[in-house]
Amino acid sequence: MVEITPSVLRQAKETEAELREEFERIDERAFQNQMKVLNAFREERVSTECFNPTTGYGYDDMGREALDRIWARVMEAEAAFVRHSILSGTHALTVGLFGLLRPGDTMLSVTGTPYDTLRSIIGITGEDGNGSLKDFGIRYEEIELEEDSTLDEDAIRRRLKAGDVKMVYLQKSPGYSTRRPLGNHIVKRAVEIVRETGSRAYVVVDNCYAEFCEEHEPPYYGADLCIGSLIKNPGGGMAESGGYLAGTKEAIEKCAQRYSCPGIGLEIGASLGHTKSIYKGLFYAPHTVAQALKTAVFSAALFEKMGYEVIPAKADPRYDIVQQISLKDAKKVEGFCRGLQSASPVDSHVTPIPWAMPGYQDEVIMAAGAFTQGSSIELSADAPMRYPFTVYMQGGLTYESGRLGILAAAGEVINIEKQNSDKL
Ligand SMILES: *Cc1c(COP(=O)(O)O)cnc(C)c1O
Repeated sequence: MVEITPSVLRQAKETEAELREEFERIDERAFQNQMKVLNAFREERVSTECFNPTTGYGYDDMGREALDRIWARVMEAEAAFVRHSILSGTHALTVGLFGLLRPGDTMLSVTGTPYDTLRSIIGITGEDGNGSLKDFGIRYEEIELEEDSTLDEDAIRRRLKAGDVKMVYLQKSPGYSTRRPLGNHIVKRAVEIVRETGSRAYVVVDNCYAEFCEEHEPPYYGADLCIGSLIKNPGGGMAESGGYLAGTKEAIEKCAQRYSCPGIGLEIGASLGHTKSIYKGLFYAPHTVAQALKTAVFSAALFEKMGYEVIPAKADPRYDIVQQISLKDAKKVEGFCRGLQSASPVDSHVTPIPWAMPGYQDEVIMAAGAFTQGSSIELSADAPMRYPFTVYMQGGLTYESGRLGILAAAGEVINIEKQNSDKL
């Protein structure tokens, strides 16, 4: 049995009572996004035939073609493609970067250094000759965010006016940094700055963890391309693998040539029976994201009550599903992950321990008891083992199970607090 002490349960009830309005806002947002998804299904006349698997080349796969159009509608973009055969979020981003950039071009990240796995793709890390952007003569520059997680607009404007920038790149979710997530108002600002300066740079957005957290998605605000993973938000916990790209017709056509082959683009690609779970996942996604958001807000409020620093804070606006909880103690990080894991539907008997993961500088601990390997729309937590020992918690297919996981994690942290105070 997942053990939850009466005192933790009492704190949880008090906490939840304070969150009623916040939860109502989350439900309302889910309703709006559900309507958008349902309308797209209606407009594209989804029928049972759409779910038929294709094999081989997959010519004229009507389910695949309709799904691309639905995805474009939901992302409020001119065009999109979504494929189970895109291996991960990192792979989708790779397709986007190589799709748009050419030798001699400059990519400018305006939200600081991108997510860890992007660094070897760009060529910030990794060996020469591994096929990075750098290997192909594509230059990279970055501009840090301001202290308050807004764009350094002057620096961006100056750099764009100097000319020669082909891509302005933004990452909304913080990855393993301790900044705040960025909302689409920041994307909108970036688009405005690019236009003001007369730059013709593409605006490209890493949308991982952010889908359906707001009313609109980045293309609505003028982003040329937004990119994400199906084992995060838009897969709704149903898609078993995949990624998507959505944006302008021109950008999507370029990326499609890179995804498959120049000259072939989106004409082929057997769906092998994966289409239905992607449709179903998209249908569930607004609701599932709401469950994850409630779980995040609940954990923020509970750990704030327990005296920990959390980002975003309980009352902060939510632009992604990730919750940072700064535990300031390696043992508490391990305890948190142990508790969360123990309340997972899969691998509840497993004890997560820190390990040296390829591509990461510090040891990393991960708690994940998911139906789909590595799925982080399912309740999961991870932390690099370095000060300030911040746990990154996300997901929760249902609020009830998310709440259980957080309570189990809180219970373990409280136990360690007790042990620590006994020692004093
Ligand atoms: C998860 C994530 C990625 C990469 O996704 P993978 O599926 O793990 O490859 C990229 N950027 C951000 C901000 C992410 O959160």
